[in-house]
Amino acid sequence: MKIFDLHCDTAGECYNQGVSLKNNNLHISLERAAIYDSYTQLFAVWIPDELRGEDAVNYFNNVADNFYREVALYNNLISMYGDSAQTPVKAIMTVEGGSACGGTLGGLNALYKKGVRVITLTWNDKNEIASGAFSEGGFTVFGKEFVKMAENLGIVLDVSHLNRQSFFEFAEISTKPFIASHSNADIVDNPYGKKRNLTKEQLNIIKERQGLVGLNYCRDFIENPGVLGVDALAEQVSFFIKNGYENIMSLGSDFDGCEIHQDLCGVEKTGDVYHRLLQKGFSKEALEKLFWKNAENFFHNI
Ligand SMILES: [Zn+2]
Repeated sequence: MKIFDLHCDTAGECYNQGVSLKNNNLHISLERAAIYDSYTQLFAVWIPDELRGEDAVNYFNNVADNFYREVALYNNLISMYGDSAQTPVKAIMTVEGGSACGGTLGGLNALYKKGVRVITLTWNDKNEIASGAFSEGGFTVFGKEFVKMAENLGIVLDVSHLNRQSFFEFAEISTKPFIASHSNADIVDNPYGKKRNLTKEQLNIIKERQGLVGLNYCRDFIENPGVLGVDALAEQVSFFIKNGYENIMSLGSDFDGCEIHQDLCGVEKTGDVYHRLLQKGFSKEALEKLFWKNAENFFHNI
């Protein structure tokens, strides 16, 4: 089976806990991901909101260097997406929090040279670029330049974590297809989920722009009282299909980045999740789109 997942924080956890990517107790290890025929994962370097300027740049470099060392060490299991190497796991390097550029366009260029192909513009607070889901305001003058240059470099921009104002400003500024790597539809009552999930108006724009939305497994974003785990994920999938978003839905697990119900928790569970969704009556065609096909089509064309 094939899997393509738009977001995890495993690279940072490996660095911070000093554990191997190959074999660990995290949500993703190479040994457990390699049970699938093909597993493509966007590995984000999450930049905490306390880090700005040089501190953010240095932290990004430390986590990314550690990750690339692991990729080189286990090159029978993992290689970078687009490389010709035939490995069960393929990785795309991403950044969660544009402050990893240190607030300069030179820093953005350096991220591209370091292999970053997707950038989540903010985390929850504001940064040099825009304002996140737990802050007020929109794009800065620098942020607008950042978007233009990132698009020219061919970096995919990611609107997960933007607040509504920033999202709608971004939709005006940007010209290329974009993604929400780990966000859900606004159908849960949780106040934290309300801020992070996407309204129909937002989903319609992502659809028009031929983007992607990675469904996040975070309990706060998908669960309602009595609707947990795979059942909660199924509600999201059902909403996407019923409302015409079947061609933009993807996986955005947020493995190693949040609290996840035991049914969904860990890369080794993803195959079971597929079969449980199949048993619930979703078509094989729709589930293939969700688990890999939409994402593969999108990244293939980038
Ligand atoms: Zn996140």
